Amino acid sequence: MGLSYICEEQQKELGRQQAPGTCPYCRGKVEVMDVEVQSKLCFLPMCFQIKKKYFCTLCSKRLEILYDKTMLNLS
Ligand SMILES: [Zn+2]
Repeated sequence: MGLSYICEEQQKELGRQQAPGTCPYCRGKVEVMDVEVQSKLCFLPMCFQIKKKYFCTLCSKRLEILYDKTMLNLS
């Protein structure tokens, strides 16, 4: 993980839906998943984050970095 001070990280899927656009690698369908990430730090209270994860349903590649760039270019 690279962050050694995070003792524990749990992810909980909140829901998923199809995202607009297609996978740049295989042109498969892209889904966006809302994930609640709960991090427990050794000396600090837990923190919650809601993250969006983009991934291809066909080749299972993670697409969020690519996708964020695409979204920026479009807007
Ligand atoms: Zn793909």
